Amino acid sequence: MTNHARDWSSAGFSTRAIHAGQEPDPTTGAVVPPIYATSTFAQDGVGGLRGGYEYSRSGNPTRAALEEALAAAERGAAGFAFSSGLAAEDTLLRAVLRPGDHVVIPDDAYGGTYRLVARVFGPWGIAHTPVDLSDPDAVAAAIEPGRTKVVWVETPTNPLLGIADIEAIAAHARAAGAVLVVDNTFATPYLQQPLALGADAVVHSTTKYVGGHSDVVGGAVVVADGAQLPVGLEGPTGTTSLVDAVRFHQNASGAVAGPFDAWLTLRGLRTLAVRMDRHCANAQRVAEHLQQHDAVRSVIYPGLESHPGHGLAARQMSGFGGMVAFRTGSEASALAVCAATRVFTLAESLGGVESLVEHPHKMTHGSVAGTALEVPDDLVRLSVGIEDVDDLIADLDQALAAGREA
Ligand SMILES: *Cc1c(COP(=O)(O)O)cnc(C)c1O
Repeated sequence: MTNHARDWSSAGFSTRAIHAGQEPDPTTGAVVPPIYATSTFAQDGVGGLRGGYEYSRSGNPTRAALEEALAAAERGAAGFAFSSGLAAEDTLLRAVLRPGDHVVIPDDAYGGTYRLVARVFGPWGIAHTPVDLSDPDAVAAAIEPGRTKVVWVETPTNPLLGIADIEAIAAHARAAGAVLVVDNTFATPYLQQPLALGADAVVHSTTKYVGGHSDVVGGAVVVADGAQLPVGLEGPTGTTSLVDAVRFHQNASGAVAGPFDAWLTLRGLRTLAVRMDRHCANAQRVAEHLQQHDAVRSVIYPGLESHPGHGLAARQMSGFGGMVAFRTGSEASALAVCAATRVFTLAESLGGVESLVEHPHKMTHGSVAGTALEVPDDLVRLSVGIEDVDDLIADLDQALAAGREA
């Protein structure tokens, strides 16, 4: 139904995000892909599908438009849209892991990713090793040849904004026959293209920057051209293609994005580049302001030269993103700052046009308390939005003054 007549592969990022998979609707000329709110599709005689669709778990035209646009944005072979980022991760991990396998994961992974690997996959016989991804040698040492089937990379990490060298880690994963997955949620495909650096698959919480407006939960997997399952594994369809395996599992376990959610996510994706430019500019200003503030003990932002991953981030990314973290010196002052902001809303999540503030230790990363992934209790995380930056800075100043009294 979506017609794939034009080839956008040589076009720039925004042109791909706006046009790939989004040809005017062939039946009506609608410029925006419609919300195909239908569970099933009429057949012209048994097996006579119009446009390839038979049932919306297997495929839906609105979701297909999003999936093609995501694949084009990441320059991958195929995209798959899910009902949440964790559903995307779960499906990808099930496609590549079998009981007895081992996963290398970041020692400051997104808390939900850690919980999925440790507490859902663990009881199904999957072992894991948390490792500091900013040290490629430590990653190499954590890989158990023949047993490690997935190396999971997050860069920048959440919430400590560590930077991992995707190309160096890809070489280690490839040598071990493992699949390299990059969670590209924080960087977005506009700022970082992991597949070009050797990753086999990218995952996203499209809930964050891709959706961009805090109005929809969703996830995605984009698979690199030619990517294979871990060495020695044959997929459920009898091939070793990672695309085939993810497609089979998406349909077989069925955590797909619904057409309304896919439509909202696709609307967000079209403006990703202009939003990210503003997120980056605002975050840089906020980070520089906090760095010279006497109520702030330290600021973590890859765009600051003081960040240990600054040089690598400058090579690997085309911007430093919209996430900023800082430490206040005490849990009480961090909590007071979080409670005192008026423009920044105190809430979990990130990546929307509006600025958010949170206390990772008690909020997003509560599930990793007491583990190797525990985060400092004086840490405040900002998702710097695209409001006027002077208003954001004034808000932080008054909140830090309140925090000083705590
Ligand atoms: C939010 C998030 C996820 C999980 O995505 P959901 O859409 O909440 O399921 C995974 N990775 C990162 C880096 C995230 O920020």
